[in-house]
Amino acid sequence: MFKLSNYIDGALVPPASGQYIDNYNPAKGEVYSLIPDSGEEDMDNAVKAARRAFPGWSTLTADQRSEWIMKLSNRINEKLAELAEAESKDNGKPVWLATQVDIPRARDNFAFFATGIKHFASESHQTAPKVINYTLKQPIGVAACISPWNLPLYLFTWKIAPALAAGNTVVAKPSEITPMTAHLLSEICIEVGFPAGVLNIVHGNGPNAGNALVNHDDIDLLSFTGGTATGAKIASVLAPKFKKMSLELGGKNPNIIFDDCDFEKALKTTLNSSFANQGQICLCGSRIYIQRGIYEKFRDAFVEATSKFKVGDPKDPDSRMGAIVSKPHYEKVLSYINLAKEEGGTILTGGEAVHLDGENKNGWFIRPTIIEGLDEQCRTNQEEIFGPVVTIQPFDTKEEAVALANCTCYGLAATIWTENLSTSQFMAQNVKSGIIWINCWLLRDLRTPFGGMKNSGVGREGGWEALRFFTEPKNVCIKY
Ligand code: NDP
Repeated sequence: MFKLSNYIDGALVPPASGQYIDNYNPAKGEVYSLIPDSGEEDMDNAVKAARRAFPGWSTLTADQRSEWIMKLSNRINEKLAELAEAESKDNGKPVWLATQVDIPRARDNFAFFATGIKHFASESHQTAPKVINYTLKQPIGVAACISPWNLPLYLFTWKIAPALAAGNTVVAKPSEITPMTAHLLSEICIEVGFPAGVLNIVHGNGPNAGNALVNHDDIDLLSFTGGTATGAKIASVLAPKFKKMSLELGGKNPNIIFDDCDFEKALKTTLNSSFANQGQICLCGSRIYIQRGIYEKFRDAFVEATSKFKVGDPKDPDSRMGAIVSKPHYEKVLSYINLAKEEGGTILTGGEAVHLDGENKNGWFIRPTIIEGLDEQCRTNQEEIFGPVVTIQPFDTKEEAVALANCTCYGLAATIWTENLSTSQFMAQNVKSGIIWINCWLLRDLRTPFGGMKNSGVGREGGWEALRFFTEPKNVCIKY
């Protein structure tokens, strides 16, 4: 069975413990490779390698760093098909989705920050005729990056790229559930001759490898994307040490559809924003509020279109949805469907596992599920399910829509559908959410601030925000 390796100090190495964790293909429900079960020793080796590489990497010019990072981007592009297949096999998402979204975005993350760093400037302030302040933005040191399983290479590189471009060295831990493309990125680093120790990739589970990285005294800052409970644990370790943190956490995003929306566009996009990637995107809308005038029409069209979705083999280009990422997550999603029924919800479509034939007969598939009849305060509507499950509920006024949108502890993303400019701006002003989409969804511009309010996170990624996070401002005041 293929064994993945850690990538430390420029070399592929086995875990110090010699122990491995099973890695599953979720569409088949079977183990297909083994992941290093890394712990403190591996993390220590990686952090030491990153520390040794820091003086060399941080003193390269922005152009030189940019050239190195572009090599990663270009090589990802050359291997796009191979990486997309690997991502699909590891995560369960359709190959077409990984080909169109995940891997191109990983390529673009590197290209974006490799070019962005060339334009990253700092301020100067003329304080008096002979007094000037200028602000240096210096690389900080060893950056720890921890990412989740839903968009594996996409989110992994979204952190690594700005950290490296800004001049830091990196120790990164991908999710143990989807480690394969991170391993392939290690191979790419070796293929392009990336300088040893600048990027280190250490595999393993959260409680061992992740925890060892977070608790390592010689990391300087940490960028984390994952669940809110994990984020709280990490913050409790790093906050008393006064280490810089960026936390991109969970969501329970509202999708608010007004009577005056462009019905067809709203319907088409809502199908996507509900169930893309099996609903396992932190930005998916899972609470759908529909204004009463079109409630029944929208509900019926939404249910009909959803019930036609093909849930199938991720390799089949006709599969609209693939497998749920892991058995525990599959069981969690199904348990929330049961909870919704217990809470009095009516399943309008879906609500059950899908059992495929052939090589996928043991895979973890769930039919896209729409639930009606729940109030906004029930657990189904308050807790993050992170699967192909949405609830629908009518509303009357825009004030009520704001109250519904804001009624959870999360505030990551919201989608608003209306043709009325004033209504859209009222919602944009009042919904407490880091990202608001009006008449669109997941239309990303990598320059924009990305992140959530409330329990959805601390800090923002993207554009200059990311480069600011990964640098330390130092003000210099000169009087002459
Ligand atoms: P988790 O919080 O379980 O895990 C995220 C990462 O943290 C994984 O690499 C995990 O390792 C690691 N980890 C787990 N425990 C610890 C620990 N104690 N110390 C250090 N690292 C740890 O999240 P999921 O992987 O389940 O991802 C789903 C969550 O991510 C959802 O809540 C989703 O909303 C959120 N998310 C947020 C996004 C945003 O931008 N705001 C984007 C995408 C997802 P391992 O998996 O190996 O155990």
